[in-house]
Amino acid sequence: MPPLDMTYLGIPGYALFWILTLLAFGLFAFRIARLIRCMRLGRKEESFKKLIRRALKTAAVTLGQWCQLKSISLKDRAGIGHIIFAWGFLTFALSYLVFIIIGAGFGLSATLEHSAFYLYYTWILDIVSVLVFAAALWAIIRRYVIRPPRLRGEQTGEALLILLTVLLHPLTHLFKIASAIALSHPPAGLGFALPPVSAALSNIFTNLSLDALQAAHAAFFWAHWLLILGVMLLVAYSRYLHMIASFFNAFFRSQLPKGELRTIDMETAEIFGTARITDFTWKQMLDLYSCVSCGQCQQVCPATASGKPLNPKLLIQDLKQELMQTAPRLLKDKDYKAATVTGGVITSEAIWDCTTCRACDEVCPLYIEHVDKIVDMRRNLVLEQAVIPESAEQALRSIEARGHPWRGATAGRTEWSQGLDIKDMDADCEFLLWVGCSGALEERSINITRSLVKILKQADINFGILGAEESCCGQPARRLGNEYLFQMQAQKNIETLKKYGVKKIITACPHCYNTIKNEYTAFGGEFEVIHHTQLIASLIEEGRLEVKGNNSPITYQDPCYLGRYNDIYKQPRSIIQKLGGLTEMEDSGKKGFCCGGGGGRMWLEEKSGSRINEMRIEQALETGAETIATACPFCLQMLEDAIKTKGCQDSLKALDIAELIAGE
Ligand code: SF4
Ligand code: SF4
Repeated sequence: MPPLDMTYLGIPGYALFWILTLLAFGLFAFRIARLIRCMRLGRKEESFKKLIRRALKTAAVTLGQWCQLKSISLKDRAGIGHIIFAWGFLTFALSYLVFIIIGAGFGLSATLEHSAFYLYYTWILDIVSVLVFAAALWAIIRRYVIRPPRLRGEQTGEALLILLTVLLHPLTHLFKIASAIALSHPPAGLGFALPPVSAALSNIFTNLSLDALQAAHAAFFWAHWLLILGVMLLVAYSRYLHMIASFFNAFFRSQLPKGELRTIDMETAEIFGTARITDFTWKQMLDLYSCVSCGQCQQVCPATASGKPLNPKLLIQDLKQELMQTAPRLLKDKDYKAATVTGGVITSEAIWDCTTCRACDEVCPLYIEHVDKIVDMRRNLVLEQAVIPESAEQALRSIEARGHPWRGATAGRTEWSQGLDIKDMDADCEFLLWVGCSGALEERSINITRSLVKILKQADINFGILGAEESCCGQPARRLGNEYLFQMQAQKNIETLKKYGVKKIITACPHCYNTIKNEYTAFGGEFEVIHHTQLIASLIEEGRLEVKGNNSPITYQDPCYLGRYNDIYKQPRSIIQKLGGLTEMEDSGKKGFCCGGGGGRMWLEEKSGSRINEMRIEQALETGAETIATACPFCLQMLEDAIKTKGCQDSLKALDIAELIAGE
């Protein structure tokens, strides 16, 4: 007799099934509705455009599990287990709809059990069950016995409960089918062999009486279904929430270029940046619901690795905890005074530690954005609380007063070009060479600019410069939280660029590159921006530039704003290959380790922990390369500083790719 045709303490099986199912669905819906109400306390954010594109991308990252595939490596294969869980979950979910809700719930089990579809599907579930069981067992051993660094402190009761449900779930399924086979109402099929694992397990029941077997089958059916209902409630009430939150998080993720921060409307904004949890947008709150504490972000964060207070996982978890505590109170009492997040729940030290390297955003399997939240908190520190480290404040004042952040610089914007015979920009020039504040004023970086000019002349490129009319692109101001100053600089520069009819811009600075290419568009500045590595690579390709290499090994430092923000990985490498051969550091490409100078950190002292640039130089030394090449004036300064402080000038030198090509 099917389990739902039986009576339990006088209650018919069907009634019990639907009472429990509807109760669980009700509790689930209640919790989800509450979470949505909490989320709606956040600021508005436009995320409803391009719905088809969003749906396709979401399908690729969730159903296709690209979210996990992207970070599987030989060192960390945990993503394989997750893929098994996710695909296993989807396979089972379909079976619940067809065989339990429709089949058992509406008395159609007997009909379904005799269909070929049921037989095939039970075969699939048989195999999936074994895989999920093995993956869950491995996950428990890994988390509680092996304890890899990124799961340190994550041996919680909640995590164990979740993993035990994943472990028991396939077991109850297999025994449910095995007892059905023993009862002689197996997946009947059309003469095909029975699902192998369940069929083998059915032998355990051989000596049971019919009544005992019937009771065992009913017990496994109910155990399995109650486990599913329990998991559904766990999804809503625990970190399992990521199973649904992450799906919507992927769907609603920002469609802006990776290098573009959200623009504040300075005229209408009621508050600048984030002071309290409800100053985040609803999408930023959805990010918080999605975090599953996997620790991948903390593993790649240079601030965490160098022992600083910032830990991106804890930052998200602390914000999540604040949201979970504060939002329900605010729903009850609109006048409830929420805690200060910026400088309170999250310390200002941690907020200033970030290099905005984007390693955390890149690696997060759930598409949680950390950098935007950190910059929003910086905006509040700077524009509302006037809390900013002295050295950063001086850089901002220098941009405001002199159009560049280098407060000690005494040279003028055009002195670097003396003797080079460079045209001022005019309508005949095909390209504008955007020099950047470092390239024009910082002693070491001037050589990059001079080398680049030599290359441009050698390749007969028709270019000009803005000279004294060029001003800071505003990138340091924006990353340091002074959105007002950034917008002023952006508008001023766009006006100048339009005045000269500029269409194509070459620059050697990835920070200028990112800002002009990705952030000026919001202010009406549309330009074709080319990084010097892109140009050099194509000139070599076209045979317009000769390369004289000396076969000495070179390693390469990926500038974050070139690589992770703009996906320029190939061109610098192709140039280096031609120069003498590339030898990669342990962390490279998408997983490259920051030099420590991004996000305005060039103008901030590194007060706690080890120095990030020195950690990077240690990785470079391990390669045995004699040169560390880079393609960013900030990286070059940071790496050269570290070479000096580590005293390894004799074994390693830092050079920009332009310097290597020009032989300067
Ligand atoms: S933010 Fe992303 S990478 Fe970091 S712990 Fe949460 S889920 Fe993992
Ligand atoms: S952007 Fe870089 S420094 Fe900032 S939290 Fe993320 S990984 Fe850490």
